[in-house]
Amino acid sequence: MGKPIYVLAPSGKPLMPTHRHHKVWYWLRTGLAEVVRREPFTIRLKCATTEYTQPVTMGVDTGSHTVGVAAIANEEVVCQAEVHLRTDVSRKLTQRRQYRRNRRSRKTRYRPARFANRGRSRGWLAPSLRSKAQATVKAVHLLASLLPVYQITVEIASFDTQKVQNPEIQGVEYQQGQLQGYLLREYLLEKWERKCAYCQAQGIPLQIEHLTPLSRGGGSSASNLAIACEPCNRRKGNQTASEFGYPEIQAQAKTPLRDAAHVSSLKTAIVTQLQEQLGAKRIAITYGYETKYKRIQMLALPKSHANDAVAIACEIGERVKPASIIYQIRCIPRGNYQLYNGKRSEHKVWAQRSLHGWKLYELVEAKGVVGYIGGRRVKGAFVLKDVATGKTVLEVTPRKLHRLARPVQGWVIQREEVRTSSPV
Ligand SMILES: [Zn+2]
Repeated sequence: MGKPIYVLAPSGKPLMPTHRHHKVWYWLRTGLAEVVRREPFTIRLKCATTEYTQPVTMGVDTGSHTVGVAAIANEEVVCQAEVHLRTDVSRKLTQRRQYRRNRRSRKTRYRPARFANRGRSRGWLAPSLRSKAQATVKAVHLLASLLPVYQITVEIASFDTQKVQNPEIQGVEYQQGQLQGYLLREYLLEKWERKCAYCQAQGIPLQIEHLTPLSRGGGSSASNLAIACEPCNRRKGNQTASEFGYPEIQAQAKTPLRDAAHVSSLKTAIVTQLQEQLGAKRIAITYGYETKYKRIQMLALPKSHANDAVAIACEIGERVKPASIIYQIRCIPRGNYQLYNGKRSEHKVWAQRSLHGWKLYELVEAKGVVGYIGGRRVKGAFVLKDVATGKTVLEVTPRKLHRLARPVQGWVIQREEVRTSSPV
């Protein structure tokens, strides 16, 4: 089965997507429909139809570099995308500030002092974070404009402090592969700062470890559990932590995690904006441990932002058919502070807006490589960059380029066939 084609009613309201490509081509050929968007392929019907829709649920995996979005209808993933956020905002503002400082020392004779009349409104975010929050909200609006999205779920933290409810005393049953086990694991990872309690190793697979082993009467509440790497866990074997030479770990485990899992200002801003724009009823929140449980235990999907979004969108116990297409979307700047400045500016305009008919950020293909135009060399070569990673993949003469798409709405959008790989 091919990619779904998104269908809009004559009013522009989204309808259910279709897989019947022949029908769509017939509609387009006979003028019963028109194309409104190439990627993701969307048509608008020109004749009245029944506006019957089924509820589509959507999941948003927020992040500081990559955002995953996915929509599910009828136990099938109907849209899946990864949005790569801009990371250059902070650098660009520094650059602008430097230009401004230079210009003022050069040109402005007198400026009254203004340092004391600046204020920050409530809910203020740093510009780099604001750009990320806005891009995430924009991605949600994109999917909501293609599909009749009913419910939107956003992941806001790794675990819910309310649900843990003092695991130190109560003890959440520790069992690998259970939802409660995932909750406890996230709690312990936060408590032990995602490091091995013994050797402080980071960024390696970590295990849950019983300080007093089960075989010697140790319990499974959080006060007897720590996080350890596999070598340490194996070396410790059947010893208690004190016998292993770490009495302080045993004491540390007794202290519960205080005020755990704060929600970052970025995620708060995203949820607030979505609630304001789409209605508080339609926005639900979820936690990372649930996502992880659903992704691994129920869906058996490999780790990626787009797959996390699928896990966020679906219910516990729901089986969904994965999508065959993932859209890679890169957020791009719509202008450049220095490149296209005016006649009277100090700097000479040295870079043309377009060269040999090509502009920056166009999606192109050359020598079998697909990428976007990310730069131009003085000698005439164009630099192709990968949409998903932003890394340079090829330098090529413009004669070899084939245009695939131009950027729209500040996005470079690339369609990607899903690679089949085993779950991790
Ligand atoms: Zn270790």
